[in-house]
Amino acid sequence: MKSKQTNEPFEIGGNIIKPGEAKVIELLAGELYTHTPITIPVSVISGKNRGPKLFVSGVIHGDEINGVEIIRRLLSHKSLTKLRGTLVAVPVVNVHGFLSHNRYLPDRRDLNRSFPGNEHGSVASRLARLFSEEIVDKCTHGIDLHTASGHRFNLPQVRACLDNDETAKLARAFGAPVILNSNLRDGSLRQSVTESGKPFLLYEAGEVLRFDEFSIRLGVAGILSVMRILGMLKGRPYKSKFNTFIANSGTWVRAPHSGILRTDCQLGGYVTRGDRLGRISGPMGEDEVTVKSPVDGIIISNIRLPLVNKGDALFHIARSSGSGDDQDDFSFVEGWDPDEIYPQFH
Ligand SMILES: [Zn+2]
Repeated sequence: MKSKQTNEPFEIGGNIIKPGEAKVIELLAGELYTHTPITIPVSVISGKNRGPKLFVSGVIHGDEINGVEIIRRLLSHKSLTKLRGTLVAVPVVNVHGFLSHNRYLPDRRDLNRSFPGNEHGSVASRLARLFSEEIVDKCTHGIDLHTASGHRFNLPQVRACLDNDETAKLARAFGAPVILNSNLRDGSLRQSVTESGKPFLLYEAGEVLRFDEFSIRLGVAGILSVMRILGMLKGRPYKSKFNTFIANSGTWVRAPHSGILRTDCQLGGYVTRGDRLGRISGPMGEDEVTVKSPVDGIIISNIRLPLVNKGDALFHIARSSGSGDDQDDFSFVEGWDPDEIYPQFH
């Protein structure tokens, strides 16, 4: 029996990528109202030998740009010359939003609430259908890259449905400080792929319209680790620097009052119920109220704009599954120098 089978050709948008070839395809997604064609750039690297077909996507939300830089560094990694299987990298899915620095599509719909999509539906629904047919249906595994929204910053975290054994294995291999185990029914790409039974990870890190070096390096290392576990690349996964905290739920802490927020907790910090997370007052310090944690857990997202309205989401706290992965071992430190942990990947 042959130990290595030849890879099969990969077809996308009428283009064929043969085993051993690498091509950038401009996938036609429609036209602007100027009649200018609008295309989604897709990089396909087809290894000579057969293996998993992994898609890595970014900018489903048009202003979440960290993933673009993660994919750029991934594509320049020298180990891809010996790839087994097929890598399909889509750095900018929501091209409309990317051009206008906007989360949504021109019809103000959320692409990540429009999957699996409909070719006769809204702008968002049609784009979701195109992505589902041309990318998702042709791949065996997926990783989608996001950041926080709305002036918030996310601790690097993987969100996945850990009921799927292979997804759970890949989620751990990614090496992020937190895994949020959840199974949403929200029209997201994640729901659509997860329901098809394909292993899928969502990586959330950083903030909109900025590159965050730590989040980018962890993202590149995480994807390379997943590809190594899948046998697409040689070598062992990067050894995680964190004792990963597995959370089964998250709680949003909202502003109890409008005003100006001073934050008293750190991203990645462990808090217990009743701990002070911040204080909100008027511009001269008047009418101060304390924001307290309603639960025990890790701060996985915090607001960076201190001007808040009553009801604004300020902090997201991941709550432990209470099984083994103990918060006492949790070791993430905000402001950690990425040079101490990851290669630059350039
Ligand atoms: Zn997003």
